[in-house]
Amino acid sequence: MSKGTLFIISGPAGSGKGTVVKALIEKHPELVLSISATTRKPRLGEEHGKHYFFITQSEFEERIARGEMLEYNHFTGNGNYYGTPKKEVELALADGKDVLLEIEVNGAMQVKDKMDSAVTIMLTPPNGTVLESRLVGRGTESAEEICKRLATAKEELKLLPKYDYSVVNEDGKIEECADLIYSIIVAERHKTAKTKSIIENFR
Ligand code: 5GP
Repeated sequence: MSKGTLFIISGPAGSGKGTVVKALIEKHPELVLSISATTRKPRLGEEHGKHYFFITQSEFEERIARGEMLEYNHFTGNGNYYGTPKKEVELALADGKDVLLEIEVNGAMQVKDKMDSAVTIMLTPPNGTVLESRLVGRGTESAEEICKRLATAKEELKLLPKYDYSVVNEDGKIEECADLIYSIIVAERHKTAKTKSIIENFR
């Protein structure tokens, strides 16, 4: 059996990546969404083991020391660690499953450095004006926080050329956006490097 592929989806706050990834997984339950570990506190409605593994800072640091994280980032903004547990990802890939990571740009670049076969996809809002109105529309952040997030988004978007694919998430087009990402996943499954067994069938 050929191994699955690791897909990394990044996108700045306001790109709608959480909603798009949710739609993608609902439509294509064969995809495995990696559950990250974090030291941040759960938000209302978030469950341990479903949205994140909520662990303490010392537990997170022990996991790093034991080499159990595929990648991690320590956000200076909110002081929290976020990372991808390695074992679950490796097991699913070895089992031939395609795995999705929904992580920010620094973590994405760490994975790409270690695993060249990983496919990176950057989800972007159509433009800065739409991004700003989405952040304002959420009504969850102060004006100062929105300015910070816009500045961070601009920094993150500078890494776009390092990504394999970019997908624009237009307003009100969640399904189309999820379908577009799925078409990338399907195309990657048909790369000749992934279909070497076909030659064997003709020996
Ligand atoms: P939030 O606190 O809003 O759930 O997530 C904040 C940021 O952390 C988002 O950009 C999200 O993509 C990123 N993130 C979530 N899980 C991981 C992870 O495992 N590793 C890294 N590097 N970033 C993550």
